[in-house]
Amino acid sequence: MKRALLSIFFVVVCLAGYSQSNIDVLHYKYEIELNDKNDSIYGRAEIEFVLKERSDVYFDLIGNAKKGMQVTYATVRAKYWPFGMQEPGHYFEHTDNKISTPFTISSQVKKGDTLTARINYKGIPSDGLIISKNKFGQRTFFSDNWPNRAHNWIPCNDDPADKATVEFIVTAPSHYQVISNGLLVEETNLADNKKLTHWKEDVPLPTKVIALGVADFAVNYVGDVNCIPVSSWVFPEDRKDGFYDYAQAKEILALFINYIGPFPYKKLANVQSKTIFGGMENAGAIFYSENSINGKRQEEDLLAHEIVHQWFGDMATEKSYAHLWLSEGFATYLSHVFLEEKYGVAKLDELMQADREDVIAFVKSTHKPVVDSVSQLMQLLNANSYKKGGWVLHMLRRELGDSLFKKAIRQYYASYAGSNAETKDLQKVFEKVSGKDLSAFFKQWLFTPENPTLAITWKYDEIKKVANIEIKQLQKAEFQVPIELGFTSAKGKTIIQKLMVDSRMKSFTVPLTEKPVSVIADPKTSLLFEGTVKEIK
Ligand SMILES: [Zn+2]
Repeated sequence: MKRALLSIFFVVVCLAGYSQSNIDVLHYKYEIELNDKNDSIYGRAEIEFVLKERSDVYFDLIGNAKKGMQVTYATVRAKYWPFGMQEPGHYFEHTDNKISTPFTISSQVKKGDTLTARINYKGIPSDGLIISKNKFGQRTFFSDNWPNRAHNWIPCNDDPADKATVEFIVTAPSHYQVISNGLLVEETNLADNKKLTHWKEDVPLPTKVIALGVADFAVNYVGDVNCIPVSSWVFPEDRKDGFYDYAQAKEILALFINYIGPFPYKKLANVQSKTIFGGMENAGAIFYSENSINGKRQEEDLLAHEIVHQWFGDMATEKSYAHLWLSEGFATYLSHVFLEEKYGVAKLDELMQADREDVIAFVKSTHKPVVDSVSQLMQLLNANSYKKGGWVLHMLRRELGDSLFKKAIRQYYASYAGSNAETKDLQKVFEKVSGKDLSAFFKQWLFTPENPTLAITWKYDEIKKVANIEIKQLQKAEFQVPIELGFTSAKGKTIIQKLMVDSRMKSFTVPLTEKPVSVIADPKTSLLFEGTVKEIK
């Protein structure tokens, strides 16, 4: 997602105790009833899962006295418990935001069994499903699940590493349109001015990108890209501007299908919403903030960012949020690559330079590494996950060259599509594709809470016709970094020399036929560093 709105900092997210690893959810089926009289929702969940370990099972669902969900019925059933027999697990508890059913007491339940939980519940969601009015004063319902806020409104295993297929059968007043993941299965008008809408997603998703949006929408079919229908869902008051702005998704989608591989889902809907983020990369149904439309196509990078996430974040997902850069660094950098393709390399340089300034300042003030298992989840929406992650990819591209870099990106996606990865998994793919040992690279850039600070001095020797260069590393940890220096002569000719700085202090001799009038560090914007260049007279 793109962090854009300050309000995200007021959302409290707990890091611990929100998932369990003894189950593997296969499928979520949610029947949800919405109304216009109040903000209560009624839900019926059917959760099919495999028991990986024979221990008590629970599902996450936030409930408390004032707001939150109240469970009215919960049971777990296996195929071999026939109907009519008393099922184990008719009793349930809903405490500490977990629904538990003590069914594993039954000796019939074995490790590896596929079981089905049924949970009925109701209440006003305290978060996760935002029921409010949009900027035009119209009532809307939008899910906003990242990172583990789904269990405010749907019972689930709220963990990015447990992916499952999902379907929503929504009953709502008939004036609303309903958008969700996957494909539309049914839309039927019911009695009492109600409408039933059924969406089903056949590709397993992490809960963070499960989506439901219910509002009065204007809907525009933009066209197909490689048989993927692209549509825009905007508030009717923004119909003209919104259709114009969101239609850019088609061009962006085409570039990334070409760059990364086939689009993972069966449709791409771009939805104006009430997400607390600038954009939220829900699978096949991206939610953008309601202010993302102005009829001037000024959010091209936002669209590109969220569309990249469909591959990286949604389909190939970080195993845990400590490795969030595998989502956000990819979305940041590949959206820059889209802008580079469209506007030229100067655009990329400009973006990387701006990102570099932010990263240097952020790491100086926080002393945090990119791979961060300590910070609270919302605090991970920071310059490290996004911009330093992007810079890591940029430096890998410079190290490998464009062709091998692209090959490694495609290979990483192909290897982890549908599953989860950690930083070391990406390292292995890049090492395999390049044939290089990248352990020092990954350690210094992703696990070290610093960036290099280089003091560069030079002195021209008129007799030997050489520049004597000395480069000192001033930060605590020692880095191994290639740095390019650009030597410009009085005639305006620039010679670029690449130097490998692999110790605290390193000296180089660069042959130059005449004394340069200027020496510039990193003229092609290839290195994440800060530093000074001084002539010794
Ligand atoms: Zn993002």
